[in-house]
Amino acid sequence: DPDGRHSRGSNSKVTSLKGDQNARSSSDHHEGYDSLGVGTDISQESYCRHNEISVMGGDVPAPLTSFEATGFPSEIVREMHQAGFSAPTPIQAQSWPVALQGRDIVAIAKTGSGKTLGYLIPGFIHLKNRRSNPQLGPTILVLSPTRELATQIQAEAVKFGKSSRISCTCLYGGAPKGPQLRELSRGVDIVVATPGRLNDILEMRRLSLGQVSYLVLDEADRMLDMGFEPQIRKIVKEVPTQRQTLMYTATWPKGVRKIAADLLVNSVQVNIGN
Ligand code: ADP
Repeated sequence: DPDGRHSRGSNSKVTSLKGDQNARSSSDHHEGYDSLGVGTDISQESYCRHNEISVMGGDVPAPLTSFEATGFPSEIVREMHQAGFSAPTPIQAQSWPVALQGRDIVAIAKTGSGKTLGYLIPGFIHLKNRRSNPQLGPTILVLSPTRELATQIQAEAVKFGKSSRISCTCLYGGAPKGPQLRELSRGVDIVVATPGRLNDILEMRRLSLGQVSYLVLDEADRMLDMGFEPQIRKIVKEVPTQRQTLMYTATWPKGVRKIAADLLVNSVQVNIGN
């Protein structure tokens, strides 16, 4: 356990919701997922089966199938409606309640599944509860394989975090460091970064990760394919072990399983359409 955190639970149980009656009581009813044409009062079990959601881990909470059911602050629910969204996507429905419990998540889902808001919104709520000082460094760190993805994540954070006055800075290579360092010096809640550039800036001692308590690895499989594992491990060493870690990946090969085993504690695994 190179991360110094103690072992993961040994009592994890597999809960396949693909037709598994005992997983959840079918008397639990939720609002339906309108955009899939499902009726408005479907059971949890049929929601999961219909959306090909399966979960692994102990005591996994039921999916939240409407924005109202999330209990998110009203300004955030309003943003969702204003964006024209009718319901949470399956990855959001299942990862929001897990993330809101403060638990580690590994989610296996394809791109375009809505995973960005899947981790950003619980991150916003985490941030609100923390009341940390942005001048001392970010509370949320998102690692992304490419500049393109990093800027997309930042755009989503800015759009949905505006009403909650959340600040987000993006750090990536192939651009001068000066403006990125200036943004950091103004204080920041969320940093979205590619591993190479973040490491450079950490080596310059221009950023502290000592306040990070919500760590996201987005497209983890792609980051490993691109050879970022040494940088990721170096970065994570600077993040306190008292944190929540969320990892998103499209595939689940051995290398990704290994880094998940090293960085996550007692995680819930959420699978969409696999
Ligand atoms: P990815 O899973 O590839 O990260 P994104 O999170 O970028 O996918 O989401 C893809 C697109 O879907 C984005 O434009 C995002 O704003 C939009 N989106 C996110 N959540 C919802 C939702 N609940 N309903 C409809 N569209 C959504």
